[in-house]
This record gives sequence, C-alpha cells and structure tokens, in this order.
Amino acid sequence: MNVLRIKSWGLTINKEEPFLVSGPCSAETRTQVLDSCRHLAKYGVSLLRAGIWKPRTRPNSFEGVGAKGLPWIKEAGEITGLPVTVEVAKASHVEAALNANIDVLWIGARTTVNPFAVQEIADSLRGVDIPVMIKNPVSPDLELWIGAIERLYLAGIHKLAAIHRGFSVSKSTPYRNQPKWEIPIELRRRIFGLEVICDPSHICGKRSLLQGVAQKALDLNFDGLMLETHINPDKALSDALQQVTPEGLNVLMDSLVIREMTTDDPEYWNKLEELRQVIDQLDAEIIELLRNRMEVASEIGRYKKINNIKILDMERWRHIFATRMSMSKEANLSEDFANGLLQAIHKESIKKQTEVMNLKDL
Ligand code: PEP
Ligand code: MN
Repeated sequence: MNVLRIKSWGLTINKEEPFLVSGPCSAETRTQVLDSCRHLAKYGVSLLRAGIWKPRTRPNSFEGVGAKGLPWIKEAGEITGLPVTVEVAKASHVEAALNANIDVLWIGARTTVNPFAVQEIADSLRGVDIPVMIKNPVSPDLELWIGAIERLYLAGIHKLAAIHRGFSVSKSTPYRNQPKWEIPIELRRRIFGLEVICDPSHICGKRSLLQGVAQKALDLNFDGLMLETHINPDKALSDALQQVTPEGLNVLMDSLVIREMTTDDPEYWNKLEELRQVIDQLDAEIIELLRNRMEVASEIGRYKKINNIKILDMERWRHIFATRMSMSKEANLSEDFANGLLQAIHKESIKKQTEVMNLKDL
C-alpha cells in the first residue's frame, strides 16, 4: 500500500503541529456549530469535525440532525477557511456528504467492525478523490481495522489515515475505551507510511483523563489528535462528559509538551547507543535462556513418553505459576506482563512436549 500522508491531501491546514481535528461530537444547531468552530479556528485546529448521523448504543437517544446539518459544518469551514469532516456509515451518507462538498470523511468504530458496511462505503467512493480517516473497530481486532483500510485503498482511495479511539473490553478500567497502544503501534508497523491520529475523547470518556492520553499519543509519535469540543459541553446531546469548550481545548493543547523525534547532540546519541547495546545484549540472553528452557521441556517430554506419563500436571503448573508470579512481583514486573509472559512460555513448553509425545521414535 502506498497511502498519501495528510500533508499531501491538498488541504489548506494550519501549519502548527500537531495536526488537530476538533469540533462537536454532534452538530445540534447551526449556531452551536458556528460558535464552536469560530473559536476553534483561533486555537490552531487544522480540520473541523461534527457528527451528523450518530450511531447510538440504544435507540431513542439523539441520533444526529441528519443531512440538514451538513450545510452548517460547511458554512463553519467557509467562515474559518478550514476543511471539514463528518462521519459516514453508508452509501447514502457518502452521497449527501459529497453533495455538500465536505472535504474529508471518517468511518466510525461501529462501522469499521462491519465489512459489508465498509465495502458499501468503499464502492460508493470509487472514482472520488477525497481523504478518508478510518477509526479502529470497537473490538480489539487489528485485522478488521487493516481490512477496512484495504477496502478503501482497493476502491482507489489513497488519501488515508487511521484514527485510534480505543477498544471496548469487558474488564472495568478508568477509560471508556481501553487504549491498547500496542494495536495502533502494530498497525503502523504493518502499513508503512500510514498516519494515525489519536482520539483521546473517545478513549477517555471523561475530561479529566484527556491530557494524559493526548500527551502519551504525542510521545508515541502519533500524527495528530482528534478532540471533541462543544460550546456548552454539559448541555451536549451526545458525549457530554468528554467534550471540552474551545477554551478548554486551548488550555489542554498549551499543556502538552511536543518532544523532538531526534537531535544532533552527539552526547545524547553516545549515551543512547550505550543503552541500546545493553538492551541488545539482554535480548540475546533472554532468547538463549528461552531456547535452553524449551530444550529442557522437550527432554521432559521424552522422559514422560518413555515412562508413559501424561504431559500436563496441574499441580506442577499451579506451583510454577504461583512462585513465578511472586518472583515477578518482587522484581517489580507488572502483573499483566508477568501473567502474559508465563502463559506464553507455558504454552510453548506444552507444545514442545506434545511434539515429542507424537514422535514415532525418540
Ligand atoms: C464520534 O467521533 O463522535 C464517534 C461516534 O466516535 P466512535 O466511532 O469512535 O465511537
Ligand atoms: Mn462522540
């Protein structure tokens, strides 16, 4: 895939870093959209957003004003000289948005989960030159996210970016949607050159967490931020708890530290090189240790086979798990990490033993 970066999308955007997308969760009235956007233009926003059709979890919630809101956001764009973006979830939305000369489209998390819907949007965009931003699917499924991006790309849309808005998981966390940073990082590794914008508003679900998530996104070298703003957030018809006023956005943006990607300082590079060598050495040792451990597992497998003994002994596994978890705790390793690591090692050890058991001859 050869996706075009945001700066090649041909938009007249703010030169300030980072690329900032902002505007209300939902367009509610013409005045609300125009008032929010007029303020945002002063605060370095590059692209104005507003939800026109709102996918809601339960019926009988506010489902957006529909196509009549399109001229409001377009007017906001004309007044401020900024490009505008709306969410589309089906072909009729695309048609209405294109008729209203919307500059950029985005696909929401509830749409990305559905390949039929994504394909319908992709087909309706064949032959159209418009940038599209694709939010991650609600579930933590990287392949589904990549699949949606591919569907758009194959329909000829090369001005593409991804939006990381967090994932719905069953365990309770302070976030509305778990960030699971490793997923967008893996996306960037898999699709070279694809830019990813972080949406702290939908990750956090509440204002107090926005700053930390936005700062982390910048530190992880994300390519932009999407933050919802409302002229009167407490009265917003959707996502009231996570929206900030345009002034609040300004304060938030001012509080963020934009670090450099690199430096010419030779002292920094010398020290970093030294530390990286230590990491390289440690990784080599870890891999060597794991190889030795797997060889011993195979040896145990052979020994059990000769003696006609079953592979899994739950008592032993319980003991291993409990003792290693407490050693990990002592060593300040997080519980999640230690748990994942032990499970992975144990799974591989069982695999080794099974391989040996299934050999005809030892
Ligand atoms: C939104 O951006 O307002 C929205 C509906 O987001 P998501 O698709 O991430 O839930
Ligand atoms: Mn929202």
